[in-house]
Amino acid sequence: MEVLYSSTRNDEKKIQASQAILKGLSDDGGLFVPDHIPALEKSLKELSEMEYKEIAYEVMKLYLTDFTEEELKNCIERAYDSKFDTEVIAPLVEADHTYYLELFHGATIAFKDMALSILPHLMITSARKNKVENEIVILTATSGDTGKAALAGFAGVEGTKIIVFYPKNGVSPIQEKQMVTQKGDNTFVVGIHGNFDDAQTGVKQIFADKELEKEMTENGFQFSSANSINIGRLVPQIVYYVYAYAKLLKEEKITDGEAINVVVPTGNFGNILAAFYAKNMGVPIAKLICASNENKVLYDFFETGSYDRNREFMLTSSPSMDILISSNLERLIYRIAGNNAKKNAEFMASLSKDGKYQITDEMRAQLKDFYGNYASEKETADRIKALYEQTGYVIDTHTAVASAVYEKYKKETGDDAKTVIASTASPFKFTRSVMNAIDEKYDSMTDFELVDELSKIANVAVPNAIEEIRTAPVLHDTVCDKSEMKKVVKDFLGIA
Ligand SMILES: *Cc1c(COP(=O)(O)O)cnc(C)c1O
Repeated sequence: MEVLYSSTRNDEKKIQASQAILKGLSDDGGLFVPDHIPALEKSLKELSEMEYKEIAYEVMKLYLTDFTEEELKNCIERAYDSKFDTEVIAPLVEADHTYYLELFHGATIAFKDMALSILPHLMITSARKNKVENEIVILTATSGDTGKAALAGFAGVEGTKIIVFYPKNGVSPIQEKQMVTQKGDNTFVVGIHGNFDDAQTGVKQIFADKELEKEMTENGFQFSSANSINIGRLVPQIVYYVYAYAKLLKEEKITDGEAINVVVPTGNFGNILAAFYAKNMGVPIAKLICASNENKVLYDFFETGSYDRNREFMLTSSPSMDILISSNLERLIYRIAGNNAKKNAEFMASLSKDGKYQITDEMRAQLKDFYGNYASEKETADRIKALYEQTGYVIDTHTAVASAVYEKYKKETGDDAKTVIASTASPFKFTRSVMNAIDEKYDSMTDFELVDELSKIANVAVPNAIEEIRTAPVLHDTVCDKSEMKKVVKDFLGIA
């Protein structure tokens, strides 16, 4: 059955998946949502016999209904290849009676690779299907991991250019080094004086700028987005939740139909929304546990029904979750408002004007499958240390937020259902915070000494993504004010 997409803020116009991928964000500022969530066609038992790429096809074909089988399979083949350092793509590792779904085996060792290794192929295919002749300019705001994953995905891809804005003082040293050493004539990396929300807001403003759009068209360019607002990112993320369930079933860790919990370290609400979609497609997921760091705007939202970004922005050791405006939550708000675009648009107008909105009791009642909590900096570090000392397994700071929140959840509820924790980054990406959590004595070492030490204590080889930046030269050093983002974009594109 065909799936069409419309904006969360105005659902009169319906478009095909390929058009939604090309546009990224709707002209009215809304996000594209499918008109229904399709059910899985294959049984969980059948899926349990499949490999990652086969499951990817089974899931994605249900959403990208205007792609031919050949087109979609071709995208999947090109994405999930030797860029990943394991053939299973997303290994499940058991530690302390919990399953860590390692989503960091791609080119840039964070879970963003799961979707950003396929997005460029989906986008090029979409452009061809829609006879687009303009060059596609990918404009992206990053809290640290999306940037590098998008750069790696789009570098050298013909017919595209990519511009990444990151908060100059808001990413880890390894994250920054990964981005500013990016090769490829079609790539451009800019640090901004501001935080991730400033970068994201700036990018959304550029997308909504009609005058600029006209100039772009005149010069043979059009914008698209690689941020998790793009439906072409959300759909590939659903795959690994289906895969995780299928794997547990295959390994007889669960019985067919047994409900599991999923814990997701959350920032922009994209990853956990994908789990919610998987649940609604028929994967037996009981609780969706939303884990925040000290920027706990989502925890407060689940507690009170009030989303309020008016608070201090905290820089934490899990920078990819340092976010106060979780863009993808809009897709959930739209749904619990009864797929009501007008009502959702009112909430979003209030968010933009007053920085907050309050949902109704009726809407709150539909959030009962979600559980929200948060972990402080100390709880996060303590969890890394405790898990390491108990099991020898080293997790990164983001995954540790999820793991610490899961400990709180178990204590509060006594629920002992089998649980999958989305492990979103390699500890090698956040070595200093991880090693300091394990022992303060590491503080005096350099970043790359820490890398080697981590490899020793965790008994894991240093990932390629780290080896290649050890000595790589810095190729991008542009820094600008958040008010200058539009000018920087025009300069890069050579539009006067
Ligand atoms: C992006 C990111 C997150 C947050 O994911 P969202 O989809 O934005 O909620 C968590 N952990 C890591 C390592 C990330 O890169």
